[in-house]
Amino acid sequence: MTYDPDNIFARILRGEIPCHKVYEDETTLAFMDVMPQVDGHTLVIPKAPSRNLLDADPAVLGPLMANVQKIARAARQAFGAEGVLVKQFNEPAAGQTVFHLHIHVLPRKTGEDIRPHAGKMADHGLLAQHAGMIRAALES
Ligand code: 5GP
Repeated sequence: MTYDPDNIFARILRGEIPCHKVYEDETTLAFMDVMPQVDGHTLVIPKAPSRNLLDADPAVLGPLMANVQKIARAARQAFGAEGVLVKQFNEPAAGQTVFHLHIHVLPRKTGEDIRPHAGKMADHGLLAQHAGMIRAALES
């Protein structure tokens, strides 16, 4: 399995495709999932290229997971959630559809429905608003 440098998240990292950015540092980018399963569904990706967890450099994982924790805390606060679902798929057999390592962060409320994975495109105004809410929580 090889890394395709033209995958959609690599193109977002290069600025060729826009995203609703939540957070960025030297190792990591976080942005809204365009087909969110819940409001606040955020993707956290390393800037270093790998298809998924299986071929990632272990050195990438520490900073990535520290940022996943940061985004999870902020998303929980921003959406008044009781919990946070963190998930990650490796290869098509496991449900992966975009082949640049990414971690899904979903703020969760008890009893709230979860929409289908990679289902319906959200309104961009709403995604921009949600990204702003998480950014504000990060800054608070
Ligand atoms: P995977 O199945 O690979 O774990 O999930 C890929 C995720 O990327 C899906 O949840 C899907 O909604 C999201 N996605 C697909 N294309 C785009 C895109 O162009 N921009 C953003 N922000 N998310 C995308």
